Amino acid sequence: MIFQSPRSPIDIPNLDLYTFLFTENEFNRHTSPSKKVLVDAATGESITYGQLRDQSSRLGHGWTARAGLQQGDVVAVFAPNQHDHPILYYSLLAAKCVISPGNPAYTEQEMLHQISDSGAKAVVTVPALLPLVIAAATKCNIPIGNIYLFGESEVQGCKPFRSLMGEEHVQFPISGINPSEDLSFICYSSGTTGRAKGVMLTHRNFVSNVLQVTHLDKDFHRLDDVYMGFLPFYHIYGINSLVLSVCGYRAQLLVVIPKYTLENFLKAVEKYKITYANIVPPVAVHLGKDPLVKKYDTSSLRMLGCGAAPLGKEHIEAIDRQMGVGVKQGYGMTECSSTTTSQPVDELDRIGSVGVLIANNEMKIVDEQGNGNYKLNLIMCSKKKLLTMANKFSITALGIEGEGEILIRGPNIMKGYLNNPKANAETFTADGWLRTGDIGKMAKDGHCYVVDRLKELIKVKGFQVAPAELEALLMGRNDIADVCVIGVYNDAQATEFPRAYIVLQGNTSPSKELATTIEKYVAENVAPHKRLRGGIRFVNSIPKSPSGKILRRVIKTTWIKEEEEQ
Ligand code: AMP
Repeated sequence: MIFQSPRSPIDIPNLDLYTFLFTENEFNRHTSPSKKVLVDAATGESITYGQLRDQSSRLGHGWTARAGLQQGDVVAVFAPNQHDHPILYYSLLAAKCVISPGNPAYTEQEMLHQISDSGAKAVVTVPALLPLVIAAATKCNIPIGNIYLFGESEVQGCKPFRSLMGEEHVQFPISGINPSEDLSFICYSSGTTGRAKGVMLTHRNFVSNVLQVTHLDKDFHRLDDVYMGFLPFYHIYGINSLVLSVCGYRAQLLVVIPKYTLENFLKAVEKYKITYANIVPPVAVHLGKDPLVKKYDTSSLRMLGCGAAPLGKEHIEAIDRQMGVGVKQGYGMTECSSTTTSQPVDELDRIGSVGVLIANNEMKIVDEQGNGNYKLNLIMCSKKKLLTMANKFSITALGIEGEGEILIRGPNIMKGYLNNPKANAETFTADGWLRTGDIGKMAKDGHCYVVDRLKELIKVKGFQVAPAELEALLMGRNDIADVCVIGVYNDAQATEFPRAYIVLQGNTSPSKELATTIEKYVAENVAPHKRLRGGIRFVNSIPKSPSGKILRRVIKTTWIKEEEEQ
């Protein structure tokens, strides 16, 4: 059975993203150029709608005329949220470049992977990250002159990107972009398996998703809504729901917070009378339980939106008790340009649901029949063979309430993984469905429930951790013979943390000291969210299938469960 969105289909204009954002629409039509659309919560600095348009257009011209970038050139960006982040992104879109945003907490190796894999020609960062960025960029033959900075000062030969701004503007509307083919962003995601891969997102992908998400609660949006901006602007959730939709498409005010703390959050709500905050589950725990919440006036909040990882019913209820505000859940992934389902604001009583399909999206829930090796077969066979295999193992599209893997189709689904035909063959079915690697079900009323995850991915506070990356790192040690990294759920913080199950080499004995040494080794080599906060367990062997595939489910359903029950 193919599930359709309960919303009527919408027309997706055939525009590039920059032109789409600044073409007159029902939200920006009457926006005064002097309306503030961006505020830095830390400094109070602000940017008006007129400045946003003017500067992104002049800077767009500067990227071509002064920095020498050409259509299709990739620019990597590693920075914590800045209040002029949207100007940077829009200007690069206006210059017809492709943005590849990455986590500013990355190590040099992690930056190197993204810069080299995406083929970036230039990098934008903040002064504090320059040593790492210069080291990584130089290894990819990017000259110092192609590293640009947020802020006003030149540091170590790297100029502020704002210095590229002259008086000339880009031609509006932008011409020469094929919205369905040309890329706007390359974001990094491990997808269902393996290391982080470049997710190719076209202009049309984002034009669709901004419209689809806005359309779902069309009458709810107000021009004077004030949004909280702490979600990272390098993750798909922040890019789509804040940078593109709020200060851009809907010309609403976005209050930018460089780093989340509960206090920063609450102070900003009180000071700027924030009406809508997008959050992730660990923040929901704070809002539901922390007594600090009561010390601030949060009465301006009309709604909280939560996504990026599962949120338990108890946290939604706790927020309702403590703050009297509703939580609207959404579900999606980088490969969907952010969102595929979302709870309509007037259907929040379906607690635990991730909402209904957004317009123009279709969903299929598929079961696996055939010795449980359905996934393995998909990986091993060619696209042509895929259908035959599918028939042989009778992949069944389930009906209402049937639990299985969620498959999605729609205009917001990525073009594919960059230079990775193998991953593309594994991820897309022959008839164009995106395999999410999530397990879910569809209820009679059109609400979808995500119940489990089939893929290897671990989500730490909404951030991705690919077990394969940590396993490869650990296998690089001489004292480790085999390893498997699994996500263990921490109830108190409403998040998973990575845990390593390690088989030591014969001549090495397990000890507390060794566990600490290994944890430190991981911490020194990866971004903070990938650390082994779930701990280390020394074991005699890792359960594997006859073909050598790690049986992660066995560890999850037996070892972890047994330990929890003790
Ligand atoms: P990312 O590409 O980083 O956004 O990660 C996407 C993955 O996060 C999805 O495939 C899910 O496994 C998980 N995810 C996102 N939103 C939700 C949600 N509301 N409930 C459960 N899991 C979610």
